[in-house]
Amino acid sequence: MSATPRLYVAPDLAEGGDLVLDGDQAHYLTRVMRLEAGDPVRVFNGRHGEFEAALTGSTKSTASLRLSARVREQAAVPDLWLLFAPLKKARTDFLVEKAVELGAAEILPVLTERTDADTVRVDRLQRLAIEAAEQTERLDVPPVREAIKLHTVLQQWSDDRILIFADEAGDDQGRPWGGEAGKAIPMADVLRGLPDGPAAILVGPEGGFSTAERKRLRELPFVRPVGLGPRILRAETAAAAALSLWQAVRGDWRA
Ligand code: SAH
Repeated sequence: MSATPRLYVAPDLAEGGDLVLDGDQAHYLTRVMRLEAGDPVRVFNGRHGEFEAALTGSTKSTASLRLSARVREQAAVPDLWLLFAPLKKARTDFLVEKAVELGAAEILPVLTERTDADTVRVDRLQRLAIEAAEQTERLDVPPVREAIKLHTVLQQWSDDRILIFADEAGDDQGRPWGGEAGKAIPMADVLRGLPDGPAAILVGPEGGFSTAERKRLRELPFVRPVGLGPRILRAETAAAAALSLWQAVRGDWRA
């Protein structure tokens, strides 16, 4: 990891431009990192690529930067969303951080029948996503959307985006995990058969999806149920595994 601080900022960026940071970012540069005038910083805003900059001055509450060269051009990220049922706080935080590292383009908390979560603080999750993007060398920060009910998401879905539904269950109500009958096809096999194009991954809550939710999902033309192996994964593990597999087979892990 580079020792030069790397920050996400909101304003437009251009070579030679000036930027005044305040709040946590000013505090971080001047108090935590103890930068002095002339010290290097890198900044990106999700639109104009990444720039080298240098600290030009600071006050009690601000830090001023002068931008020099653009060191990376903005590039599009693969169009992959992650839909997840909010979990307990620490697990949700982990999931959001990993989703950013693994290149999710948007993060959508969805409320399912068995969602059992602390209140979803989207503003806090968005700040976490910013920190993760700064750390992982992304040029964009994926938006974290307001939590929305699963059935509303499905009603509003646009048919051209394939929804990859992580479905661990079988259909036999009398057997643990629904037995082998009606199990989803392994995710890698499903992905190999898909065209390139917009996609989303849906992972359920700790309690899984209800029978009604599974049935509804499996009936929709844009949904592809997928299996993630013979073990039941925690939701945050399932999300990280599914994102990784998609990036490897359909996304930007390819050569
Ligand atoms: N149904 C279980 C566990 C849910 S695991 C229960 O009732 O307790 C949480 C979520 O992770 C699931 O809803 C599913 O989306 C995903 N998941 C976990 N293991 C999986 C697997 N082996 N295959 C596909 N999805 C899986």
